[in-house]
Amino acid sequence: MMKFTTSWMTEYFPSFSGAAAEEIPIHHVYTDTRQQTEKALFVPIVGENFDGHAFLQSAITNGAVASLWKKDVPVPAYVPNDFPLFMVEDTISALQQLAHAYRQEVNPTVIGVTGSNGKTTTKDFIASVVSTTYQTHKTKGNYNNHIGMPLTILDMPTSTQILILEMGMNHFGEIEQLSQIANPDIAVITNIGESHIEHLGSREGIAQAKSEILAGLKEDGLMIMDGDEALLAPLHSRKAVTSIGFGSNNRYVLSNVTSNEQGAQFTLSEQGSFEIPLLGRHNVKNASYAIVIANHLTISKESIQDGLAALKLTGMRLEKITGHNDVLLINDAYNASPTSMKASIEVVKELPNYSRKILVLGDILELGTQSESLHRSVAETITEPINMVIAIGNTAPVIVEEINKHVPTIETYAFRSKEDACKLLQDHLSKETVILFKASRGMALETLLPSLTEQ
Ligand code: ATP
Ligand code: MG
Repeated sequence: MMKFTTSWMTEYFPSFSGAAAEEIPIHHVYTDTRQQTEKALFVPIVGENFDGHAFLQSAITNGAVASLWKKDVPVPAYVPNDFPLFMVEDTISALQQLAHAYRQEVNPTVIGVTGSNGKTTTKDFIASVVSTTYQTHKTKGNYNNHIGMPLTILDMPTSTQILILEMGMNHFGEIEQLSQIANPDIAVITNIGESHIEHLGSREGIAQAKSEILAGLKEDGLMIMDGDEALLAPLHSRKAVTSIGFGSNNRYVLSNVTSNEQGAQFTLSEQGSFEIPLLGRHNVKNASYAIVIANHLTISKESIQDGLAALKLTGMRLEKITGHNDVLLINDAYNASPTSMKASIEVVKELPNYSRKILVLGDILELGTQSESLHRSVAETITEPINMVIAIGNTAPVIVEEINKHVPTIETYAFRSKEDACKLLQDHLSKETVILFKASRGMALETLLPSLTEQ
């Protein structure tokens, strides 16, 4: 489907060569020439190891009909004279500028989602609910950075009514930039945790960095946030702001949360009761952001509930798996921060019908100098009915040290390698048992699962 023409682009990139001024239709915008695509605009990215400008030949072979081009890179002799090249100072900035222009041209309602944890889940909940009623386009997977987000915008069909964008960051200034490109009508801050504390110094720093989403939010745009997070309180001074949380101070108050193997049930103020196919109080909150947005967009309660129920589970996020002897394995090994590890432990504590509860916890990476104390803080949530904790890695064993001090009745183990944990777990597979697997991506704890599930 056509997105725009090269002639439309000349308005934004007046320095061009070839037949750019003609109405050549562009159906795709891409950076990776290994993708086979028709009628595409190629964006050569200058990376650390590769310079995309070297791949124009294969882009043309694979269907590119025009390209952005960094001014000071010589144009290769093989490029046909009429091939449209848009000369720019910097191809990434140009990609962002193009994304912004296209966003304004299509002009859907844009929803930007940021926060330390829960961005992808919240984005997927919003899309699942909103797509019951509107033409919706959303970030695929985790395409949430300064290149992925613009590409997501440029990937939206012209008929899009609602665009949902995940915005990720490591440093100050990044969310501000993404927000200015996306110019959201609605912004969500899911929570403030400890991810990237290395670069941002403190939780206050993290809250400040997430609040940068206000930079591009429309003047009268709606800000939705985790109202249980005191560090976000300064945002209350905004005109249009809505807080959601468990505290009674919130505009929308969450209550009556129950969960079972199927998922969670809860009540959200005057919106009523809902069910979601995910476990965990944090997911109840993520779903609530979607409910409030849907309500704002006048979607009916029935459609909201249908959308929540239809959520497609993304792998390794509190994923429920039945193992040997009907043991329940909860694979939450996609990634971890101290906040998300605590949240997952709470989920296990609250599960009814399991008399034996085991946690397999691995290292949480990228915590900088506060790594050890943040690992120790995880132990605060580890109390009965947890029966056993297995820590794996270089730092996670301090969690076990802390448990031994405060709750000596819990059986604990600390291992350097995953293989040792695997042997121990073999003796604990029964239908009364639930085992949680949680660690940073680098630990790849999911490799423990096959030996616990295969017959
Ligand atoms: P990334 O930075 O990797 O893109 P993300 O913000 O998109 O992460 P998700 O992928 O949705 O987050 O969830 C990752 C993990 O964070 C979940 O498995 C869960 O443990 C935890 N989590 C999700 N939502 C919340 C929340 N609202 N508060 C605290 N922890 C959460
Ligand atoms: Mg994500």
